[in-house]
Amino acid sequence: MIDTNLSALHKQSLRNRKHQSTAHQCGCFFCLSIFDASRVTQFWDDETTAVCPLCGIDSVIYDSQVESLTPGLLQALKRYAWNDLIDADTTDVRVVYQSVDVS
Ligand SMILES: [Zn+2]
Repeated sequence: MIDTNLSALHKQSLRNRKHQSTAHQCGCFFCLSIFDASRVTQFWDDETTAVCPLCGIDSVIYDSQVESLTPGLLQALKRYAWNDLIDADTTDVRVVYQSVDVS
C-alpha cells in the first residue's frame, strides 16, 4: 500500500534503502533532481537512508515508493519538508499528481 499524504511520504525518505532494489529512478526533494536509482551510493542512518548524489542531502524518494515520481511531487515534498508551507496531513498526493502538467 502506498501512503497518500506528504507527511507519510516524507517519513518514508528515511530508512528507504530497501526500496532501491525495485526502483528504476529516484528523486531528491531538496535539489529537485530525478536520476537513476543506481546513482545513489551513499547511505546514512546505519547505511539505511539514501543520500542524494547531487546535493548530499538525505531527501531521496524512490519511484518504487510512490505511485508516480514527478517534479510536482518533489516540489510539494520540498515545500513540506523545508518550508512547511502546506498542510501535509491533509494534502493528498494524488491531487499533487493531478496538478502536474504531463503534456
Ligand atoms: Zn539532491
